Amino acid sequence: MSNLEPMNTDGSAELLAVEPVVALRGVRVQYPSGHTALAGVSLTINPGEFAFLVGPSGAGKSSLIGLLVRDVIPLSGEVHVAGHAVHTLQPSEVPYLRRRVGVVFQDFRLLQRRTVRENTAFALEVTGAPREEVDAAVERALRIVGLTALAERYPDALSGGEQQRAAIARAIVGNPELLIADEPTTALDVTVQAQILEVIQKVQQTFSTAVVLITHDLGVIARVADSVNVMYAGRNVESGSVQSIFDHPSHPYTRGLLSSLPHEGVERLQPIAGFPPNMLAPPSGCGFAPRCQFAVDACNAELPSLQPFDDLLTSCIRAVDLRIGGRS
Ligand code: ADP
Repeated sequence: MSNLEPMNTDGSAELLAVEPVVALRGVRVQYPSGHTALAGVSLTINPGEFAFLVGPSGAGKSSLIGLLVRDVIPLSGEVHVAGHAVHTLQPSEVPYLRRRVGVVFQDFRLLQRRTVRENTAFALEVTGAPREEVDAAVERALRIVGLTALAERYPDALSGGEQQRAAIARAIVGNPELLIADEPTTALDVTVQAQILEVIQKVQQTFSTAVVLITHDLGVIARVADSVNVMYAGRNVESGSVQSIFDHPSHPYTRGLLSSLPHEGVERLQPIAGFPPNMLAPPSGCGFAPRCQFAVDACNAELPSLQPFDDLLTSCIRAVDLRIGGRS
């Protein structure tokens, strides 16, 4: 993934640096309880990119997206989002950051006493935007999520999928550079899940909005993602294009995750034995090593950082030995 793209409006081939929408550098997060949520995460998401975060419960995914809107404060490291240095942001500047970032949650979080239109308008009204501007933005947001006809309904008169579409309209009404979705389809049935992903993809493609989406469902990734970031025990252990990750994953955790997906001819799925480590006492080495059939002593010795490997970034020090897909 390169940050260099042709930018000149005259079509000339000169390459200019594109500023990422999200850049995390060596970020550590620890809660007052003593739990380490992120143990040194670096991550880049470019404008318009559709990035997935996957990994087991407790891996640090929600903490990572909390960082992006300054709900979570890092212990150390840098967090840059939509032109804001979030790690040094003053509280008075937080609303400006949040205008550039839309967030969608698993449980919708709509205001029950406001209609779909009012829920969507609210985020812009609090910024003091003029009435005509609010109205035009609301119409545009409702149109793209397909809720124009239901604009005057209250949330309790909507299905789960419709409520999530209203939540997406609210998140995008200010035309953010980044849309964050924390398991947006988990509470919905399978056919509705696909519709919600289509709506998010339409937003990304229509407005070139970058998307960060957390999911437990690897099945959905292949259809919509540009990039996948696999998290485990407070680290991102592997990053790359969806094709590379599915084709030749380098990390044993990713391989385990992929082989636990239902596929033809396999009746009983093979879950990965064991559990993630206790993050009150994070491991000094690779967090997956205790569950990894390929682990050697060195895996427990130090915390590996992401390194380029083929067309991926991996933290597995055994990636070369375990290389799959016939690469030399
Ligand atoms: P995920 O989203 O991948 O499930 P989280 O970011 O929610 O992971 O959690 C990462 C780690 O931080 C876990 O060990 C979790 O128990 C801990 N954690 C998360 N939120 C809090 C909190 N508010 N207080 C204390 N510990 C927390």
